[in-house]
Amino acid sequence: MLGSGSSGNTTLVEAQGTRLLVDAGLSCREMGERLDSSGVDPASLAAVLVSHEHQDHARSAAAFSRRWGVRLMGSAGTYAALGLEEAGIAGYDVLEPNREVQVGAITVRPVPVPHDASGPLAFVLSCGDTAIGHATDLGHLQRGLVEAFRACDAVLIESNYDAGLLREGSYPWSVKARILGAWGHLSNDDIGRYLAQGLGEACRTVVLAHISQNNNHPELVRMTAEQALQRRGRSEVALTLTTPEGTGWLEVEPPAGAPRGAKQLRLF
Ligand SMILES: [Zn+2]
Ligand SMILES: [Zn+2]
Repeated sequence: MLGSGSSGNTTLVEAQGTRLLVDAGLSCREMGERLDSSGVDPASLAAVLVSHEHQDHARSAAAFSRRWGVRLMGSAGTYAALGLEEAGIAGYDVLEPNREVQVGAITVRPVPVPHDASGPLAFVLSCGDTAIGHATDLGHLQRGLVEAFRACDAVLIESNYDAGLLREGSYPWSVKARILGAWGHLSNDDIGRYLAQGLGEACRTVVLAHISQNNNHPELVRMTAEQALQRRGRSEVALTLTTPEGTGWLEVEPPAGAPRGAKQLRLF
């Protein structure tokens, strides 16, 4: 992850020489600098997938597309909500729910999620036998997403807030109700239930993202997730927590037993 949280979300994914971004929530300059420091030429990206129109995910999508000539991909709702028709972008591919598209070596499966935006999406990104699930900003875990992520080798998902800290915090009640609601964000407890009940057997890497700086604490995120994995007898699953500054590269290896030379995905 190049950045994560309410200050801006951007994930860089690489497989077999194809690189793409999920979201463009940092400033255009910041994205260029962070790509540069991870050794990636912005113009070499095959696409930017835009999960939804909220600023912390789409802040510089149009500017980045214009500046570097990179196509955007997302739902028809995201295209309309961002006013991209007039934006002079390099191009836009409309993604239909659960219809796979090929971006170079990476297969992209868009999965609809419940969030208060226009056609918001999560993604399953796969290459050969290796797959990652990527979901930020969703109010609850629907069966469709849990099933779509079941065979993933790595899952990146938000653990946005601690319900106690949010309720006691300083946000106006209307904002608290939005975050807590079925179309808001996932809490640490939601993730605990997911890890204990919904995580697929193939998954060996979990990245917990979009951690609120006001209504959460990394220690609470880690403790809730570790306890859930222990309950499930899955202590071997590697947990990574993201920060606003992002993370380094995480290698997602092909599953054990995959044919030799099986493909590998990398996630920044
Ligand atoms: Zn967000
Ligand atoms: Zn959002």
